[in-house]
Amino acid sequence: MAGVMTSRSPDTDGAAKRSRRRRLRACPDCDRVVALPPLRPRERADCPRCGHVLVRRHRLPVQRGLAYAVTALLFLIMAMVLPFIGFDVRGIGNTITLTDTGSALARYGAPLVAAMVLLGIVILPLVYLVGFIILHARIARSPGGHWDELLTRAISHIGPWIMADVFLVALLVSLSKIAGMATLDIGPAFWAYCVFMLALVKTQLALDTDWLWFRLAGEPPAPAGILLGANARGQDMTGCHACGLINRVDAAGRGHCRRCGERVHTRLPTSLQNTLALLVLAGLLYIPANTLPIMHTTRFGAEQGSTIIGGVFDFLQGGDIPIAIVIFVASVLVPIGKMLALAWLCWWAHRPEQIDSRVGARMYRIVDFIGRWSMIDVFVVAILVALVRAESLMSITPGPAALAFAGMVIVSMIAAMRFDSRLLWEPAHREPRSAHD
Ligand SMILES: [Zn+2]
Ligand SMILES: [Zn+2]
Repeated sequence: MAGVMTSRSPDTDGAAKRSRRRRLRACPDCDRVVALPPLRPRERADCPRCGHVLVRRHRLPVQRGLAYAVTALLFLIMAMVLPFIGFDVRGIGNTITLTDTGSALARYGAPLVAAMVLLGIVILPLVYLVGFIILHARIARSPGGHWDELLTRAISHIGPWIMADVFLVALLVSLSKIAGMATLDIGPAFWAYCVFMLALVKTQLALDTDWLWFRLAGEPPAPAGILLGANARGQDMTGCHACGLINRVDAAGRGHCRRCGERVHTRLPTSLQNTLALLVLAGLLYIPANTLPIMHTTRFGAEQGSTIIGGVFDFLQGGDIPIAIVIFVASVLVPIGKMLALAWLCWWAHRPEQIDSRVGARMYRIVDFIGRWSMIDVFVVAILVALVRAESLMSITPGPAALAFAGMVIVSMIAAMRFDSRLLWEPAHREPRSAHD
């Protein structure tokens, strides 16, 4: 491969230099080496083979990012300190704050679920926003330095675990579940949380990691002799998952990124074994999650447990068909569908020559995207346990399925992350170098 670059003519030397100056990327989804075109604000570069968005450029990334992040942070703090929702049955009731949704779970015997809920809806968003603001404020003045690089890597890793949007849907489901039984008082924190969620989504969209890394550490030239349009692994190179830069790897396919220091692998080690092992664990958790009660409702001293599927039937009987469908899809269909799809992808990845990689890649993206939405039911339990407290008239406590269910969602999210989608695009699977590269 190096032969391509050894010609002595001044013309090809110049071409080689130009090629090394081009900003090359190995697509994180399919491993194809591509050159990024110069991008203006509001433009983006997609991988020509699998369609993955490689870079999305924004107008005024620092100012816009800071404006959204500061708004999101202010509204999150308001949502945490102001009254969230009030619940009242015949004059007896209770008003909760946002963090009560976690602390009530801890008080009624589900501390692990409480930790997961608080992490997803309050703690990780706070860490993310504070990190985002510090980073962008520093970048506006003097970029570079160990702390900035650490912050950039940290916020990229935290992003997928933030569940503010899922929590908001769970909130709507919970409110419609109890709307008929009691008087509900929507407090200012509810509206603050809605604004926070929108501003947070805009903050996450405004994050341009490619631009950030360029500001922080420049763009080291690409390794010499790299071929566009071919897989990076076949050339003993790989793209960095944190900053995107192409790096040369050792004989075992490992190395460290020259720009950000992140460990890089041509393929995630033992990706398929890890994914399958985690899937088995998630499958085992799925059984208690769906057969044991997810919560116990006590009314006038009589306690009754309800399973997830029981909750779906309650909504159906009450005529809330859209909510029944949301719960059934998010809690029953999505987890099982996700596990089957991942198992199928693992089986497929052993035979990349037999598959249509595009279909596999699309399937993987869907699985990766929908996984976190299964947390809806766990959040519904968290909200109801905190909110429904009317002395002896009515109260709700978490059941054992809540922990099994939350564990299953987290484990299957990790299983999807451990699956290396580049395995679906191995070289056995054709795709010659295309002329327009
Ligand atoms: Zn690609
Ligand atoms: Zn890197």
